[in-house]
Amino acid sequence: MDSYCSSSILLKMSREQLVVERTRKAFLTGSTKPLKFRIQQLQCLLRFITERRKDIADAVHKDLYKSEHGTELFETLGLEGDIQLAIEKVWEWAAPRPVEKTLLTISDEVYIRPEPLGVVLIIGAWNYPWAVTLKPLVGAIAAGNAAVIKPSEISSHSAKLMEDLLPLYLDKDLYPVVTGGVTETQELLKQRFDHIFYTGNCTVGKLVMQAAAQHLTPVSLELGGKSPCFIDKNCDLNVACRRITWGKFVNCGQTCIAPDYILCEASIQSRVVEEIRKCIKEFYTEDPKTFKDYGRIVNQRHFRRVVALMEGSTVALGGDRDESQCYIAPTVLKDVTGTSTVMTEEIFGPVLPIITVSGLDEAIGFINEREKPLVVYVFSHDKKLIRRVITETSSGALLANDCLVHATVSALPFGGVGNSGMGCYQGRHGFDRLSHLRSCLIKKLNMEAVNSMRYPPHTAKKMGW
Ligand code: NAD
Repeated sequence: MDSYCSSSILLKMSREQLVVERTRKAFLTGSTKPLKFRIQQLQCLLRFITERRKDIADAVHKDLYKSEHGTELFETLGLEGDIQLAIEKVWEWAAPRPVEKTLLTISDEVYIRPEPLGVVLIIGAWNYPWAVTLKPLVGAIAAGNAAVIKPSEISSHSAKLMEDLLPLYLDKDLYPVVTGGVTETQELLKQRFDHIFYTGNCTVGKLVMQAAAQHLTPVSLELGGKSPCFIDKNCDLNVACRRITWGKFVNCGQTCIAPDYILCEASIQSRVVEEIRKCIKEFYTEDPKTFKDYGRIVNQRHFRRVVALMEGSTVALGGDRDESQCYIAPTVLKDVTGTSTVMTEEIFGPVLPIITVSGLDEAIGFINEREKPLVVYVFSHDKKLIRRVITETSSGALLANDCLVHATVSALPFGGVGNSGMGCYQGRHGFDRLSHLRSCLIKKLNMEAVNSMRYPPHTAKKMGW
């Protein structure tokens, strides 16, 4: 191709197309295959998080009004742990995995070989802009892939920082950051990838899957939903409500695994409200609006969406709001029904509805009539009751007597089921998700007599009849 021709083709290509082409070219050099290289890149990523901790916290504060401590606790510490684990374990994860042999393959080598998929597209969401974007990247790098990273435009300060700083630490050609909004993401989605790892809402999840289908690209969808929280009337309400208040109102309720609503018997509703009231005061003072550890809704669109969800319900606690600051006080709604507006979609804000049920049977029925959530929460001293919730419901995860902490256990897969998503990650699960598990069987060319039975003609003598 002459240079005029090639430069005119380049001119016609979009920025996103050029980035993906460059990334694929870099992947095809094979540089990501040696484990030493992957470890070195993971070390650079770790150095980035450690050295730029303050810049990251500043950006998240601008995006979500989150305190430095909050960002450390909910984003950078977990990320560092994930990276360290991958550095330590990648030798083990990437090693051939021998499998049980059959009689016919007894003298062969039979194993699974994890291999890189190729170029992965990571599309992040805004609520934990660093964790949900860079945690999948840890799996992608460890598994030997290249990755195009698309942070959410809604957490714009974090996105800009990622775009500016990540190339100073990681290989620029293998792990480029593409910023932009819907148009840019859609342009990226037209390109061919070997896996798309999307975190966000269900509506866009479907668009991602449609785009991926054009190239038969596998997808992981980390979505949300309404995670129910059943409180048994005999449990320690003081402790239960403390843990629920923490899990619900952290990050101003904008946590995919936050308890979305409470299910409990009518006889304990007012005590639940009272316990939560005490905890809100203890955690966020009488005036959460001026308290540094209480966040804000990310933008006015989401502010109005959350406020509209409260329409028609009875406020038991909170309810104050200020659109100019995207502030909504920690709010509890009581006597909510399954058909109330607040039950029509994931709340993703600091609003906690309580729905009263006659007991566990009705609670399980209520959960099962709805889409499968990311988490089912249950608070009880009774192990049998907890077992019933485990065996009679389905969700991405089940957590008894606490909130959110299952996400810190990297040995547990993190992901949804049904409407809350597909495919999981964290630790080895992230490595496996972004690897091709190739079946390998290596025979020797000797011992041909053993095979005689399989070759035609299949005579009675050969078959031993
Ligand atoms: P968002 O608006 O930031 O969107 C996510 C990504 O999708 C962004 O990068 C954006 O550019 C892209 N996008 C948006 N509209 C698009 C379109 N029309 N076409 C193509 N790309 C588009 O984030 P969000 O969806 O508001 O995130 C909140 C949701 O994410 C909640 O439902 C939450 O539960 C879920 N979530 C899930 C997890 C998880 O791990 N399961 C983690 C965080 C958030």
